[in-house]
Amino acid sequence: MGQEFLSLIESWDGNGVVTRFDPPTGTWIFVALHDNTLGQPTGGTRIKVYPELSAALTDAIRLAEGMTYKWAGLGMGFGGGKAVLAIPEPLDGDVRQGLLRRYGAFINSLSGAFNTGADLGASADDMATIASRCRYVLGIDYDTMTSTDPGPFTAHGVRVGLQAALAQVFGSRDVTGRTILIQGLGGVGAPLAKSLARDGAHLILSDLDHRRAEVLAQQLGGRTVDSASVYSTPCDVYAPCAVGATLNPQTIPQLACRVIAGSANNQLLEAEDAERLHQRGILYVPDYIINSGGAMAFSLQRDGLTDQGELMRRVGEVGSAVSEILKEAAAAHTSPLVAAKDRVDRILRQRREAAD
Ligand code: NAD
Repeated sequence: MGQEFLSLIESWDGNGVVTRFDPPTGTWIFVALHDNTLGQPTGGTRIKVYPELSAALTDAIRLAEGMTYKWAGLGMGFGGGKAVLAIPEPLDGDVRQGLLRRYGAFINSLSGAFNTGADLGASADDMATIASRCRYVLGIDYDTMTSTDPGPFTAHGVRVGLQAALAQVFGSRDVTGRTILIQGLGGVGAPLAKSLARDGAHLILSDLDHRRAEVLAQQLGGRTVDSASVYSTPCDVYAPCAVGATLNPQTIPQLACRVIAGSANNQLLEAEDAERLHQRGILYVPDYIINSGGAMAFSLQRDGLTDQGELMRRVGEVGSAVSEILKEAAAAHTSPLVAAKDRVDRILRQRREAAD
């Protein structure tokens, strides 16, 4: 095993990583269990081809830690966990189904130590296949074996979090007339764009698939920008809803926005980028708080809440959490990332003290 691989495990403060190799497909499976202070480790399953195995393990442990923060930030009764299926090449058909069934049986063998849902590279059909072998998949109706799309719930959480940020910066939650640039128009970005357009926001849309951006802009009345111009385009809000690490020492000096509020995971290349944004007077809403709507809806569904309207109403609590964090950050003159981490640490510490 490579030194880099060993160092990753040595330096990690999580509970542990359960590892399995799937010989028929050559897939490495990593289930990273970060923390169970608030409940059983729960997080998505990512299916991806990685350039090297250490990158897959890095993804699993970083994302598992992010899930601990996400659940704690919302005060929900789950711990942080994440699974990565590092496939050697894109898999489909029977080969993919076989892997997913074996993975489902593997999760089942953990007897509830890890609950999962869809993440990058895992479709709704994939999750139904996994669920055919275990009871630990969130977002699945086990009676009908149908899955729920988390995108609209996540988009709603982003929208209310974005409005909390507008209130902080401009003194009003109203999106009417605000210019909002959305990068990435998939499961989250598209419903977010529709909801903002409905309420009179000026949209600027960007997607690697430029045609997708053009079609949506025509439909909703916005304009498009190409990927290279995203960071320097003037706007009130930049909403990263595509990939991670778009906020980094190269892009931050170019930014011409007042607020950053979007769904992408791991938006900062490194934690110091939050301070760089703070110094520039740009309000960054921590990703793991604002993008938690889908996870929240799934956990509420698992507890028996099925009414869509009520689920959306509960996801609206993401806006209150964002608002509290932004106020705490303003009062302490820190970046919202510091305030969010303080909140998470406080919640975890209180629970650990209560358990002692
Ligand atoms: P998706 O795959 O449905 O859509 C992503 C979109 O981004 C696609 O249209 C793709 O063409 C575009 N894209 C990819 N790279 C790009 C780039 N460099 N520049 C511009 N566009 C690019 O994904 P999604 O479900 O909408 O999720 C978007 C982000 O939000 C991801 O980072 C995901 O991890 C995160 N997230 C999603 C959810 C959810 O409920 N789906 C929940 C939490 C976090």
